[in-house]
Amino acid sequence: MTAAAHDPSSSERLCGACGMCCDGVLFHSVELQAGENPRQLSALGLKLRRKKGVEFFLQPCSAHREESGACSCTIYEDRPSRCRLFNCRQILAVEAGSVSEADALEKIRNARAQVARVNDLISRLGESNPARSLAHRTANALTLAEGAERTELHDELDATMKGLEGFLAKEFRIG
Ligand code: SF4
Ligand code: SF4
Repeated sequence: MTAAAHDPSSSERLCGACGMCCDGVLFHSVELQAGENPRQLSALGLKLRRKKGVEFFLQPCSAHREESGACSCTIYEDRPSRCRLFNCRQILAVEAGSVSEADALEKIRNARAQVARVNDLISRLGESNPARSLAHRTANALTLAEGAERTELHDELDATMKGLEGFLAKEFRIG
């Protein structure tokens, strides 16, 4: 997550142009792992929650920043272990030498263009809660108020989000 593991220059550039594992596109939430210090992470600004003994935070992450298309993590040096360990399919492929950085960047741009399209449709349908994951916001936008009828905009959002999810599953998600 906005992280660099084996090839700092390449993965830093790609993650800096992406941010999708921090901004609510790829994940709903991130769980802390055994041995992590919730108080320290809270003090750093993570908005932690606790459920059934598990500490977690929701996405979009409060430490995620995006300015002029450049993404960063405000607590990068102290980020949780799940963030340190996660590498998406594109980063792994670039590190393995099976995909060029340019091709991975093209996939990121493609995904982000689809995300922008989903966001546009969501806002046109009146859903306005940026503090939820993209999947949650899409589900909210597709939920009809009592008596309301489904429109072509709902169909378009449904189809666009399904297209995006398929693309993310093929090109970014692991497992
Ligand atoms: S989805 Fe991949 S490229 Fe994007 S920020 Fe996460 S690890 Fe980096
Ligand atoms: S702590 Fe940093 S790396 Fe982890 S999800 Fe938040 S912004 Fe991303």
